[in-house]
Amino acid sequence: MKILAFANQKGGVGKTTSAANVGALLAAAGQHVLLLDLDPQASLTQALGIDAQGKSIADVMGGANRGRLQIADIARRVSKGLDIAPSDIELANCELGLVQRLGREAVLKTALINVRNYDVVIVDCPPSLGLMTINAMIAADGVIVPTLPAASDLRGVRLFMDSLDRIRDDGLNPALKLLGVLFVQYDPRLTAHAQALDSVKGAGLEVLGMIPRSVKVQESGAARQPLTIYDPQGKPAKAYTSVTRKVMTWLKRNPR
Ligand code: ADP
Ligand code: MG
Repeated sequence: MKILAFANQKGGVGKTTSAANVGALLAAAGQHVLLLDLDPQASLTQALGIDAQGKSIADVMGGANRGRLQIADIARRVSKGLDIAPSDIELANCELGLVQRLGREAVLKTALINVRNYDVVIVDCPPSLGLMTINAMIAADGVIVPTLPAASDLRGVRLFMDSLDRIRDDGLNPALKLLGVLFVQYDPRLTAHAQALDSVKGAGLEVLGMIPRSVKVQESGAARQPLTIYDPQGKPAKAYTSVTRKVMTWLKRNPR
């Protein structure tokens, strides 16, 4: 089982949209997928029409004290091959409580040790560099960093890369693999977007793909459908399919 996180301390950069679409595509490709919502805002959970009803990732993570539930207790079926470990606003309080706890950075890693019935766990991170994101970075085998293709957003990406380096160098997760940067809301006609792409490539970073800007993406979110069902022939669906193919290659090349 591999753990793949979508993370960036900035909000509105396409983490949740990308986690949902790549998750759905991996499930369609025959993988058994667990989406894990680690954002107190619970956007991914809501996007799938799920209400945690007192059984959320907050009850697994716990706060000042250990959580009372296991991931298996909270996981809910979304569709064939696709489950979700839902989130809830209560997770915000957990983060405050966690600060006092020994081993606070490895709580998610420990919770995932007993989870075996999935091929891949996809973690949707909150828009911060707080304890939840750190927990995801320590539990994960790989990370994808979605970003908007603007210079100001790339400064944030560099900051995020620095924290990944620290996590590796401090020995907290030396094997953490950056699968790449994923440009979201990309418009090739805009010089600024093309420049952002060049700048990331120039820095030697892998670009996993460019998801074009499209109202279909927002509409599919509102319709609670993955793009491959809502608009299968559209460019965003095709771009996510190409990204998912790369994720599949990574999954196969690094079996565990
Ligand atoms: P994050 O999880 O990083 O906060 P979201 O995935 O929630 O970001 O996306 C933020 C907003 O941008 C959402 O309203 C989403 O529908 C929209 N969005 C995401 N990708 C695209 C795209 N390719 N084109 C247009 N809008 C998009
Ligand atoms: Mg989100």
